[in-house]
Formats: sequence, structure tokens, C-alpha cells
Amino acid sequence: MQAGKSSGTRTKRAGNRHHTTHPVAGTARAEAIDIRMGTFRQPAMQTPVLVLNASYEPINICGARRALVLVLKGVARTEEEQGAVLHSHRMNLQMPSVIRLLEYRRIPHQTRALSRKNILLRDRNTCQYCQKVLIASELTLDHVVPRCRGGLSTWENLVACCRDCNRRKGSLMLHELTDMKLLREPRPFSLHTSRHIMRMIGSADANWRKYLYFESESAA
Ligand SMILES: [Zn+2]
Repeated sequence: MQAGKSSGTRTKRAGNRHHTTHPVAGTARAEAIDIRMGTFRQPAMQTPVLVLNASYEPINICGARRALVLVLKGVARTEEEQGAVLHSHRMNLQMPSVIRLLEYRRIPHQTRALSRKNILLRDRNTCQYCQKVLIASELTLDHVVPRCRGGLSTWENLVACCRDCNRRKGSLMLHELTDMKLLREPRPFSLHTSRHIMRMIGSADANWRKYLYFESESAA
């Protein structure tokens, strides 16, 4: 879909040919980027946009292009702007930085692909036995119930684990080890985890902060 082209007339095209860079009142950064209608491959179209539920709860991140489509469809409204403007013949559209769904959407269990990367993300690169924080290449995945004892490769049975702990645990069950226990029970990738990731991505964007941080943290 292309903004401003989806429906309606193009009768003003000729008249507007020389007026594609209207200043937009109240937007200091507006002149910085001139994105013309239809140029959806501009880098600004890839800018991440925070998606809030109708309740203002952050639920997702999408690209600016997708966010604009949701706004144009009337599914969402812009809560915060990037400062960039999408110029079309009929209107100027503020590029969103944060959008909010107009109708509350029930969020089912976040179903993320079970992968090494996502397990490490969930466990914040922390060995779930000794709590050491390590870079990804120094972490392994441990089957809590070892595979040789019927353990499956599932969210509930895989945890980030340092090499030392992995070696020590070997093919033993946790109840067979007195000195090793799990930092926390492994769970599927939760909304809480997603929010943590949103915070990491959004920490650079002042527009996002008030939606992602609790009040006690926002002063920092
Ligand atoms: Zn460890």
C-alpha cells in the first residue's frame, strides 16, 4: 500500500507539483527529512515504531511503513511523531514513532520461535545455574532434563548455561545434584521478556521512554 494513493482522486496532482515540501507547524525536525509519497523504501520507513495496545501497554515493535498502514487504515493512531513527514499530494503525514491501537487487542501467549538466540535473550545471557553473565558465544544451552533421560527441546526444558556448569551437570537430573539449582523456572518467551527487549531498543528514543519505563525509572 502507498500512502495517499489508495483511494480517491488525483485531480490536484498538477497543481501541487511545486509544493511537495510544506513546513509542518510544531515539528522542529520536520525539515530534516523529506519523504515523498510512494517512496516506501526510504530508511525512515524502516525506523522502528513502538506499538501500544488501546490500554497504552506496549505490545510490539513494527517498522514505520507497517505503522503508517495501520494509521491510514484507522486501526491505530499516532501517539508520538518521529519528526519526519511523508508528503503526498493530498496530505502531509507525520511519520509515527509510537502508535496506539484503537481497539483493545487481547494478546495471546507470545509465540516466538524456539531458538538458541531467543533462549539466550529470555535468560538475558545469564547462566541459569551460576548466574554468570556471558557473551553468547560463551554460553551453551542446557537441557534441564537431559535428552538421554527423555528431556525435550522446549522452552521449559532449555536454559542458558555456561560451559563449566554444563560440564558439571552432565547427564544428571537436578535432584541428583545438591549444589546446582535453577535461577528461575524456564518459561516460554513472555510479554515481560518482549518488553525488556523493547526497552533495550527504545532506550535511545525519548519518545518511547514514558511508555516503556515505570515511573520510578523514568527520572534516570
Ligand atoms: Zn554457570
